[in-house]
Amino acid sequence: MVKKIIIFLLIILILTVSVAGYYLVFKDNIEIGLNGELEYTLNVGDTNFKDDGIYLKNNKKIIENNKYYVKRDGNIDFNKIGNYYINYTVTYRNKIYSISRKVNVIDNIPPTLDINLEEINIDYCSKKSTKELIYTANDNYDGDITDKIELIKENNKYIFKVEDSSHNTIEKEINVNYLDKPKNVFKINGNNKIYVPLNGIYNENGVKYTDGCGNKLDGVNIRGVVNTKEVGTYKITYEVNGEKNLIREVSVYDPSVSKPTGSKVIYLTFDDGPGYYTNKILGILDKYNVKATFFVTHQFPTYIHLIKDEYDKGHSIAVHTYTHKYNIYTSVDTYLDDFNKMNDVIKTYTGSYTKLLRFPGGSSNTVSKSYNKGIMTELAKRMTDDGYIYFDWNVSSGDASANPTTNKIINNTINGVKNCTHCVILMHDIKSQTANALETIITSFIESGYTFAPLNETSPTAHHSINN
Ligand SMILES: [Zn+2]
Repeated sequence: MVKKIIIFLLIILILTVSVAGYYLVFKDNIEIGLNGELEYTLNVGDTNFKDDGIYLKNNKKIIENNKYYVKRDGNIDFNKIGNYYINYTVTYRNKIYSISRKVNVIDNIPPTLDINLEEINIDYCSKKSTKELIYTANDNYDGDITDKIELIKENNKYIFKVEDSSHNTIEKEINVNYLDKPKNVFKINGNNKIYVPLNGIYNENGVKYTDGCGNKLDGVNIRGVVNTKEVGTYKITYEVNGEKNLIREVSVYDPSVSKPTGSKVIYLTFDDGPGYYTNKILGILDKYNVKATFFVTHQFPTYIHLIKDEYDKGHSIAVHTYTHKYNIYTSVDTYLDDFNKMNDVIKTYTGSYTKLLRFPGGSSNTVSKSYNKGIMTELAKRMTDDGYIYFDWNVSSGDASANPTTNKIINNTINGVKNCTHCVILMHDIKSQTANALETIITSFIESGYTFAPLNETSPTAHHSINN
């Protein structure tokens, strides 16, 4: 009986081994797997991803993939952070096998942080940076993240921090310096040397005395007196505790016997009048005993008689034009008609003709081109040949511009004379702004010691180059 059982068990064993053997040797044993890494991590924007594909094994033996149908799906957006899957599907002997691979697109590049200053200097007075601080942050993925910058102000440094949406951070710091208190300012207002005509007015313009932040300080002691009724050189001394004394020299001169030693001669010239403002201008010139030159016109007949006043007060009278219309440049004859008509008017009021003139628009004008090409060249020669002297200018007050301000005229004129020693200044006595600017201009020139003179036949002509 025992023997039978053993035989039976043996048969079972043999059958089992045989079946197992069959399966081991002949049955498909398919294994699908990924070539390369199981999971890839790419930086956003990096498109150099190489798909290594899959393998298929049957009973540990590689089956060549390309013999079978492999389907792949799943898109990767390399420009967008995320986890992506590539799914591979293989059909082999009517059976489907699949596997997927994970691809992570990440951002691990920190933002950039730009700061315009290498260090910050804090002004003592304003308590602010002497230069504007500008900082920006940019991220390869998020773009402009300037608004995410965290600025931590410590006593001696500023710390800038910024983090992008993937938690990449950057940090920079710059040093903060506190500037010392600037020195006090102590200086003379206006010129150190001033000229005052005898019996004229000395204006005490004082000094500027402030702390380094521009706050006015007290304690200026002014010593010295100017006697404008006596010719001489006077010294005004300005004293402040702890500062070197400042001295202004005031020269009172007698204009009837001497001229100030200033280096410039000023020829004030007024075009286009006489007109409404001529009287006011004559009054200011009288007040400072300044002689000027009027290039007259017949544009405002109501005021034409003022030519006599101008002449009687010692100013030079010269022809500008009768009509002040540019069609006078149509021909030499039309110009001469206009010119002679004006010179006749001058003779009526002064008793004599003048040899002096200024072309409307100056000899350099180009407006005459549209009336007659080459007319200015012709006229300049013709008038000179006939014994006349034409004048241009080397300083323009700018009062002929569309809307000149009084201050602009003052600045143009005072700055303009910096570049000349014989300064022929173009102004117009038909402008209120010119009349308003004149006194400041004259007193500034007197204080600087400049001499005023009317133009005559031997004066500098300040010629421009002719453009037509
Ligand atoms: Zn003019």
